[in-house]
Amino acid sequence: MTAAAPDAFTPAERARLAPHFTDLDGPVFALTNLPEVVKGALFARYSRSPKSLRRLFLDEFAEGPAGAAPTEGVGVTRAEGLYERVFVEYGDDSVAQLGGVHLACENVSNVLTKLLEWGRLMAYLEQSTRYIPYTDRPGGRWRYHAPAELPEGSALRAAYAKILDEAFETYVRWLEPVQAHYRARHPRPPGDSDLVYRNTIRAKTLDTLRGLLPAATQANVGLYGTGQAYEALLLRLRAHPLEEARACADRILTELRKVIPAFLKRVDAPDRGGAWSRYLGATREATRAVAGTLLGGVEPAPRPEVVLVDFDPEGELKVTAAALYAASELPDDQLLDRVRRMSSEERAALLRAYVGERVNRRHKPGRAFERTSYRFDVLTDYGAFRDLQRHRLLTLEWQPLSPRHGYALPETIEEIGAGDDWRRVMDASAELHEALRSAGLALVAPYAVSMAYRIRFYMEMNAREAMHVLELRTTPQGHPAYRRVCQAMHRLIAEQAGHRAIADAMRFVDHSPVELERLEAERRAEARRRA
Ligand SMILES: Cc1cc2nc3c(=O)[nH]c(=O)nc-3n(C[C@H](O)[C@H](O)[C@H](O)COP(=O)(O)OP(=O)(O)OC[C@H]3O[C@@H](n4cnc5c(N)ncnc54)[C@H](O)[C@@H]3O)c2cc1C
Repeated sequence: MTAAAPDAFTPAERARLAPHFTDLDGPVFALTNLPEVVKGALFARYSRSPKSLRRLFLDEFAEGPAGAAPTEGVGVTRAEGLYERVFVEYGDDSVAQLGGVHLACENVSNVLTKLLEWGRLMAYLEQSTRYIPYTDRPGGRWRYHAPAELPEGSALRAAYAKILDEAFETYVRWLEPVQAHYRARHPRPPGDSDLVYRNTIRAKTLDTLRGLLPAATQANVGLYGTGQAYEALLLRLRAHPLEEARACADRILTELRKVIPAFLKRVDAPDRGGAWSRYLGATREATRAVAGTLLGGVEPAPRPEVVLVDFDPEGELKVTAAALYAASELPDDQLLDRVRRMSSEERAALLRAYVGERVNRRHKPGRAFERTSYRFDVLTDYGAFRDLQRHRLLTLEWQPLSPRHGYALPETIEEIGAGDDWRRVMDASAELHEALRSAGLALVAPYAVSMAYRIRFYMEMNAREAMHVLELRTTPQGHPAYRRVCQAMHRLIAEQAGHRAIADAMRFVDHSPVELERLEAERRAEARRRA
């Protein structure tokens, strides 16, 4: 990149540009105080114009006098027109990637958070069940979603409210006893502040009790994504059988149209997005019907919590060959052939060079590690699933949440005499699930299921993503449930797939037992605050 031939701007032009460009002379600059559609349209012009972006802005988008309020006097109408032409008429999807929105979705059920967080090309931040105790009752109601599918005043709706109320009441009742138990078992280490200790004990308590909360429990989610990503999200939600998902889609569309209307023209056009959503819904329904016919009456075979169902026995060899690719001029298959004929020492030396000295988990080897993949089938509690589902650079699908695979019961719960209460909540949750199913509301029934119940899902990921997921999710501050799952995955890569060099390269996977998960993280946070 050179800083050659900067645009010559007059003082008046500079004044017009200043509110919207972080630098007026250099070749790198950010855009500020402009509507998303204008930023997107400006970038879209790059492909067909020899002009610089700042000159394009002055010539084609800046209207009105310099010094006008930031978004006044900016060619929104023109930008909308450009979108109309490029995006709607020609269907140039890259244009829809050029504007983004921060969107908040509050008080959505955990069932819906998983649908919101499905897309890979978005960023999400979700309220945590580890840091937020569910003790408040805004408007006099515990924080759970009451599905619109349950008619107001119906016996089923009353039963739903009663059972979920009791689950929340049990959760709240055991908060203090569980904290007291952990305080007695893990007295405050000398040198730790009261705040560090309190936060650590509270997080451990909330981790232990979250299994009591139903999947209907509400959370707040922040999303950040492009117009294209929102379009995909809306098409999915609009096709979803749950009323909560469709109602949320309507609200999202209404709000997005206030900020990026041009990006979302086709979402609800019956012949465009409408047809697209119908396609998604129809294939899902047809598959469900066929699956019912083909699999009806087949019982699930017992399996361990984590199963490595697919891997390439030659995977490590292929990763080694791929490590050579960018450093050579040979065709891909010739490289594989060469690596097959190398000694194991030569191959090991090559991988050592490629992986290098990893000082921390963020130092990751390159895309050669994407050459082999692992498919894991996991049956673990819904709480852990929620966390693992957040990873985006992999393929993950899950089955309907139900009580049929049993539930987790933390040792601590039995130790402190809360076992009977726990079982009562689980049994009531299973009965409510059955009542909803029998009433023809099978799709609504998962709302009633407690997070301690197990759900089956698969995660298929390449070795590079596996390195990220397993190293992150086994850090001592992680929840014990997903730590256990990810530790098992690491062992299976080494022992069942026999990819010992790949497993060794994941050197920050932590197999150590941890008593107080948040302690070190809280200490570090306090040190940072002090600094
Ligand atoms: C102890 C702990 C506590 C947590 N607490 C919370 C919490 O309270 N709330 C919460 O919401 N989450 C929480 N998380 C989840 C976490 O912050 C991430 O959302 C989650 O790990 C998935 O995102 P990721 O980027 O790590 O991994 P992946 O989605 O698997 O992505 C892997 C890598 O790919 C790249 N990548 C993926 N997508 C993009 C993208 N769109 N743009 C650019 N790069 C991308 C990044 O390099 C990323 O690290 C917690 C995680 C841990 C371990």
